[in-house]
Amino acid sequence: MGVDNKEVFRDSISTIDEQGKRSWIYPKKPKGKFYNYRTWLSVFLLTILLSAPFIKINGNQLFLFNVIERKFNILGFPFWPQDFYLLVISMLIGVVFITLFTVIYGRVFCGWVCPQTIFLEMVFRKIDYWIEGDKGAQKRLAKQEWNADKIRKRVSKHILYLLISFIISNVFLAYVISSDKLLKIITEPISEHIGGFISIWIFTGVFYFIFSWFREQVCIIACPYGRLQGVLLDNKSIIVAYDYIRGEATKGRAKFRKNENRAEEGKGDCIDCDQCVEVCPTGIDIRNGTQLECVNCTACMDACDFMMVKTNQPKGLIRYASEENIEKNEPFVFNLRMKAYTAILTILVIVLISLLTVRSSVQANFFRVPGELYQVKENKSISNVYTYKLVNKTSLDVDSLSFKLLSHPKGKIELVGTDHILLKTQAIFEGTVFVEIPKADLEDSNETIKIGIYKNGEEITSTKTHFLSPKNGW
Ligand code: SF4
Ligand code: SF4
Repeated sequence: MGVDNKEVFRDSISTIDEQGKRSWIYPKKPKGKFYNYRTWLSVFLLTILLSAPFIKINGNQLFLFNVIERKFNILGFPFWPQDFYLLVISMLIGVVFITLFTVIYGRVFCGWVCPQTIFLEMVFRKIDYWIEGDKGAQKRLAKQEWNADKIRKRVSKHILYLLISFIISNVFLAYVISSDKLLKIITEPISEHIGGFISIWIFTGVFYFIFSWFREQVCIIACPYGRLQGVLLDNKSIIVAYDYIRGEATKGRAKFRKNENRAEEGKGDCIDCDQCVEVCPTGIDIRNGTQLECVNCTACMDACDFMMVKTNQPKGLIRYASEENIEKNEPFVFNLRMKAYTAILTILVIVLISLLTVRSSVQANFFRVPGELYQVKENKSISNVYTYKLVNKTSLDVDSLSFKLLSHPKGKIELVGTDHILLKTQAIFEGTVFVEIPKADLEDSNETIKIGIYKNGEEITSTKTHFLSPKNGW
C-alpha cells in the first residue's frame, strides 16, 4: 500500500529478528477513547468469563464443555449424546457465522472480544505497566544488570503472572470438568483427586507460559482464526486501516514543523512520529497496509488521533475503514452487503437460540415391545405394550412423573411394576406401560398416538409412537 509500495516487511515478522531469535516487544501504554471502551468491555467480559461456570440455570452449569464425558451445556441448555445433531448444527452455524462476520467486520473479534487479547492486553500487560513502567522503563529494566530493584520487580511480576495463571487454570477446568468437580478437587484431600490436582498445575503452567513468554505469538503463529484472515478478508472488509491517500499526499509523510502549510507543500498528514508503531502490541507498522499480525486492537488509532489533535489535524488518519473506502476516499457506510450479511447473521443466531430453547429438559421415547402385536380386551378396547425410556438432561431430580394419552383422551396408560417415577439428575429411567384405547376411537390399524409426560399436572414434554389394532372389519 503506501507510496513506496515496499513489500519487504512481508518477508519477516516483527517478533523474530534476522538471526531467528525472539525480538521482544515493549508496546507503549495505549491511551485514548478506544482503549477506554475496550477496558470497560474487558471488565464486563472478564466478569462473565470468570463467573459463567459457577452460574447455574435449572441446576445446569451455564457453560460446560466436558469433552471426556461428552456433556455440553450452552447457555444452561444441556446437550446429551442424543442431542449430538444439535451440537453439529450449532457448530455449522458457528462456522458460517464466523466466516460471514469476518468478511464484513474483519478482526473486530480479535481486538475486542478474544480472551487471549483481553487477558494479555488488559490483565498481564497492565501488570507490566504497573510494576515496570511504560515502554522505555521496561526496555531499560531488561537491559540493566541484575540488582535488588530488578529482582524485586521481576519476582513480583512473575508471582502475579503465576497467581493469575492459576486462577485462569481453575476457571478453565470448571468449564471442562464442571465447577462442582472443581470445588471437590479444591476442598477435598489432594490424595482423592491426584489427577485433578495435577491438571490444575499443568494448565497453570500452560497459561503462565502463554502470557509470560509466548504472548502475541499466539495471534501471529498459533491461532487458526488469525491464519484464516488471509482468505476471509477482502477489500470491502472493515479493518484498522491507515489512510495512505491522506497520510502520504503527493510528497509523502514528513515530520511536523510549526507554522507550516502541509497541504500547500504537498506533505501528507502523517507526521512520521511513529507513535502508531510504538503502541502496537504485535510490533508492526500499520502504514504498510493490512497485515496478518494486526489484531485490530485499535491502539494505533488512539495514538494517531492523539497526534492529530496535537498538530491541529482531523482525527481518523488511522481508523476503521475498508481498503476500498480508503482507495476511493469515501466515508465508511453501512452498505447493502453489510446489511444483508448482518441480517443472515441475525437469522442464524435466532435459529440457534430457537433450536436450543424448543428442546425439553426431559427426553421421552416409547417403543413397542418387539413381537407383541395387540390385545383385544373384553371392554371393547385394544391394548398395546411399550417400553419407555426417559432421559433427565438437567442437574436436578425430576420426581412424580406421569403419562397422559394426548391423542386419544378416552384411552389410558397403565404403568407396569411401579406407580412412581423418580427421574434422577442426568439419569435414564426405563420401564413398561400398557396403553389401552377404546376401539371406537381408533381409525386405523396402525395409528400414531401422542403421549404427554407430566410433572405436577404440567406437561414437560411429549412424544409420538405407533399403536396397532386389528385391520378393518375386526
Ligand atoms: S496495527 Fe494497530 S490495530 Fe493492528 S495490532 Fe498494531 S496497534 Fe493494534
Ligand atoms: S501515529 Fe499517525 S501521524 Fe504518527 S506516524 Fe503513525 S500514522 Fe503517522
